[in-house]
Amino acid sequence: MRVLNSWLHIPADSDFSLYNLPYGIFHTGDGKPRAGIAVGDHIVDLAAAAETGLFGKRRFFKKIFEQSTLNDFIALGKPVTGRIRRKVQAWLIQDSAPENAERLLANRLDAHMLMPVRVGNYTDFYSSIEHATNVGKMFRPDNPLLPNWRWIPVGYHGRASSVVVSGTPIRRPWGQIMPPGQDVPVYAATKQLDFELEMAFVIGKDSALGEPIGAAQADEYIFGLVLFNDWSARDIQRWEYVPLGPFLGKNFGSSISPWIVPLEALRPFRVKGPRQHPAPLSYLQTRGARNYDIALEVAIAAAEKSPQTIVCRSNTKYLYWSFAQQLAHHTVNGCNVCVGDLMASGTISGPEAGTYGSMLELSWGGKEPVRMADGGTRTFLEDGDIVTMRAAAEKNGIRVGFGDVSGMIVAGSAGK
Ligand code: CA
Repeated sequence: MRVLNSWLHIPADSDFSLYNLPYGIFHTGDGKPRAGIAVGDHIVDLAAAAETGLFGKRRFFKKIFEQSTLNDFIALGKPVTGRIRRKVQAWLIQDSAPENAERLLANRLDAHMLMPVRVGNYTDFYSSIEHATNVGKMFRPDNPLLPNWRWIPVGYHGRASSVVVSGTPIRRPWGQIMPPGQDVPVYAATKQLDFELEMAFVIGKDSALGEPIGAAQADEYIFGLVLFNDWSARDIQRWEYVPLGPFLGKNFGSSISPWIVPLEALRPFRVKGPRQHPAPLSYLQTRGARNYDIALEVAIAAAEKSPQTIVCRSNTKYLYWSFAQQLAHHTVNGCNVCVGDLMASGTISGPEAGTYGSMLELSWGGKEPVRMADGGTRTFLEDGDIVTMRAAAEKNGIRVGFGDVSGMIVAGSAGK
């Protein structure tokens, strides 16, 4: 890859290098949302850039970039969105600062980030074999992996309305819980509040109802990736999930990172996934490197100023089922997808202790407390805990990161 340099100072360890250029929606305190591209500690204000004529069709693009979500921009299609991104990159790599530099740049560290897309539909997969095996071991020691798992990228339909942007507090949910050894459930706040370390992809193109998307075409339909924390209440989930699957233990909140990293920025980090055995059915077969080598980590702090403890280091490359396979499976029956739909990978756990992507696994069902930097311990999350996830790919000195997704647990309230 060609080495890029900018007149703009970009910290060497920044997630938002010239090779990344992810999209988000921000405002700078004036409450006026607009689209931007993150670079170093700055944001290129796309609405301001459109106004100067950087992309041609001044009024058209200004209107597109002054919206409160990226949906209409994404819907223009990859030839257009890719051209805009290349224009911004070319503007950044000129020999000297252009005259309009100040007008087009906002300070990223002061900006308020908003939901980047209007999520119409949210689907949650279960694509990490390590995670599925760990959870299975706790519930079914003799038979951890269910018979369908190696044939189907297992998933379910989640709830789009409660997907929130990083920084949004998460209220501890109340619900029905069956205490161990009892036969009457209680109504209480969850005692097993958990995070799930996931990546999610954003759909960039509508498909037609009745027409499956082949695994080989999947990339045409995937606009980019975000980091995803799929909060879970394990005790509520355990009681409710039979026979229809997850419901109130999952739909009270899921947090996404505010910057959508476009798929083209992740191309250099493609790697082969784990060997799949048995060979998947024909519609799930893919060629070449379909996974991504993206390092992931989860940190917990007991309060705003408390030290962070990194409780997990994992990697997107561990996913057994690739994003392409997830999308092919999702649409194999003719189910259509829409711009802005979000599809999450499922918890991404690695093969050994310290790489597990949930407290359920890290504390092994609450039996092995995790040590915290402040001297405390955790089995599940407590009120005041701040969970921060980070993700970045790095190769040959090129870094493409996601920033972070964080959320603080606050006390919930009982229903009336
Ligand atoms: Ca999940």
